[in-house]
Amino acid sequence: MTSIKYETVIGLEIHAELQTASKMFCGCSADYSSAPEANTNICPVCTALPGAMPVINAKAVEQAILVGLALNCTINPHNTFARKNYFYPDLPKGYQISQYDLPIASEGWLDVPADSGKGTQRIIIRRAHLEEDTAKTFHRGDHALIDYNRAGVPLLEIVTEPDFRSVESALAYATKIRAILRYLGVNAGDMEKGILRFEANVSVRPVGSDEFRTRTEIKNLNSFRALTRASTYEVERQIKVYENGGQIVQETLGWDEARGVTVSQRSKEHAHDYRYFPEPDLPPLELSQAYIDSFHAHLPELPDAKTERFLREYGLKPQDAALLASERSLADYFETVVKQTRDSAQTVCNWLTGALLRQVNELGLSVDAIPVPAVHLAQLIDLAFDKTINGNTAKSVLVEMFQSGRAPKEIVEAQGLGQISDEGVLKEMVIKLIADNPKEVTSYLGGRETLLQWFIGQIARATKGKANSQAVKQLLLDEFEKLKK
Ligand code: ADP
Ligand code: MG
Ligand code: ZN
Repeated sequence: MTSIKYETVIGLEIHAELQTASKMFCGCSADYSSAPEANTNICPVCTALPGAMPVINAKAVEQAILVGLALNCTINPHNTFARKNYFYPDLPKGYQISQYDLPIASEGWLDVPADSGKGTQRIIIRRAHLEEDTAKTFHRGDHALIDYNRAGVPLLEIVTEPDFRSVESALAYATKIRAILRYLGVNAGDMEKGILRFEANVSVRPVGSDEFRTRTEIKNLNSFRALTRASTYEVERQIKVYENGGQIVQETLGWDEARGVTVSQRSKEHAHDYRYFPEPDLPPLELSQAYIDSFHAHLPELPDAKTERFLREYGLKPQDAALLASERSLADYFETVVKQTRDSAQTVCNWLTGALLRQVNELGLSVDAIPVPAVHLAQLIDLAFDKTINGNTAKSVLVEMFQSGRAPKEIVEAQGLGQISDEGVLKEMVIKLIADNPKEVTSYLGGRETLLQWFIGQIARATKGKANSQAVKQLLLDEFEKLKK
């Protein structure tokens, strides 16, 4: 039996709640996570009382346009809304208002690293459309409790073509989408809160084939880890089914995090199951070209462009540039420090990607809220640059800065951490050290050059690490040179 090799095929759907003050079609607060009680942010529109009329949230439209432009999409001037009919208790109207044949954004793309490891591959984004979120259901014993505070919160659904050929590239894309949404300030990316959710459509086919096979759809993936594990599991499961001569049925799956398996939820519904029809309570949304174009001016420099610029402008390594550019706040912090220190951008990069992020992670902080002001980090870097303190002292001062919020100069002065660079003082110490240790000196002069480190260490100990070790080394070499003559 020859064994066939299979290729992964994935298409992603990403649901992102938009960060508007009010819901998609009414004036209720969209901030359901800080609502004091269930079913308080509700009104006749979002609970679908007879006669209530929806109104389109202009802020949600603005945010959707920004995302569309950032993803290289065409923004469609003529938009319509449709009713997607399905019965579910978390959907009070019995339908969801969504966009069907005319979405706000279509035909975009995003580049992710190529599967070969060299260069990039372009993922085609089929569409991004506006819709509304459902209510939240909680299960208590035999009962289901429903909180309508989330019902009607604006959602943007971003759909790719089945362009991914590996789980890794799907993950890279999802990570990049999250970064872009955060850059645009339209979604904070908190997956554990459910404001960003992934759906992976997965199929496999023999390598070399250009026909797509039947896919399954894994719903409600709430973390990158779940996206990765669920897709990987599903690829392997499908390959096994084919290897055993079976067929894949198109169905909707859930991901059981605890057991690490996908589970069937229902057979796939098709578009006709939803009986889409134009939303009769909303007129088409017409956007003028001038209005659409005005958003180009509001687009910030996005992660890829920023990475490129950091490479060009500061000569950073690609990995460092990408890390700093992955978060807008981190990138801004980096550039503020670079402007304020006398040391190089590379040194600032080393501090940020090393000691600073280590503290942030250890303390469980967010990069949005680094408690050390950029100007303080710049001062610390300058103190090391001027050799007022040595590198190790600088690192412990940083830890102290995180704890106390004090400026580095204050900490150095208060604790007497200044480095001893005074040649006179150091020279005296070196001469005394040489006089006190004749055996080690003879041994060093006899060829055991590794002893140099031991001499430097003695001075470091005597000064509690405050001696400028470069200066000590030079003084020692000078004295030994004299002794050789
Ligand atoms: P539907 O209209 O039934 O929702 P679509 O064709 O619009 O189906 O696709 C929905 C998602 O599934 C898209 O992200 C698409 O890329 C993906 N997809 C479609 N066919 C496949 C396939 N054979 N394998 C993997 N993903 C697929
Ligand atoms: Mg879907
Ligand atoms: Zn409402």
